[in-house]
Amino acid sequence: MMETKNSKSNSTANNSENSKSGKSAMQSSQLMQLFEDELKDIYFAEKALIKAIPKMIKNATSEELVDALENHLTETEDQITRVEKIFELLGKKAVAEKCEAMTGLIKEAGEIMEACEEGAMRDAGIISAAQKVEHYEIASYGTLRQFAETLGLKEVEALLQTTLDEEKNADAKLIEVAVSAVNIDAAELEETK
Ligand code: FE
Ligand code: ZN
Ligand code: FE
Ligand code: FE
Repeated sequence: MMETKNSKSNSTANNSENSKSGKSAMQSSQLMQLFEDELKDIYFAEKALIKAIPKMIKNATSEELVDALENHLTETEDQITRVEKIFELLGKKAVAEKCEAMTGLIKEAGEIMEACEEGAMRDAGIISAAQKVEHYEIASYGTLRQFAETLGLKEVEALLQTTLDEEKNADAKLIEVAVSAVNIDAAELEETK
């Protein structure tokens, strides 16, 4: 981690010494490096989710929520394959680098599940944690897709767009589940009156 930081600041220093003509090539190689670093980060994050989502499924009660999570677990497997395909297209070995953010989000998801009573409350907690995960992924893939476009990597860009769409759909589905859960709860409250 320190090494990456040092090499980055070194290349920034070198860049400022470069002539204008060399600058754009230098910038594109730096952008490529940043792209690779972010790809390693999301590769770690997706792999961590393959382990975390089944725990959410086990803790979920609502059938709709279980379905949404199971569906997204399958998509996550495809997303990992896509990231590996991107490494291959770049001629690089697929390497995962620890994503502190996803590690933290998954840890918090565990804490929420422990703290909430099983049933509607825990489901609400799972939805909240899962949406934070999706938003992190949407930000990551949105950036990666933009970098790929800037770097002129058409095939890579298309792969990233497919995953970005899946993440956005997963987030929208979670909102749907939350809305219908709230509606059911409101109806139940009405009955007990
Ligand atoms: Fe994902
Ligand atoms: Zn996903
Ligand atoms: Fe990260
Ligand atoms: Fe996701």
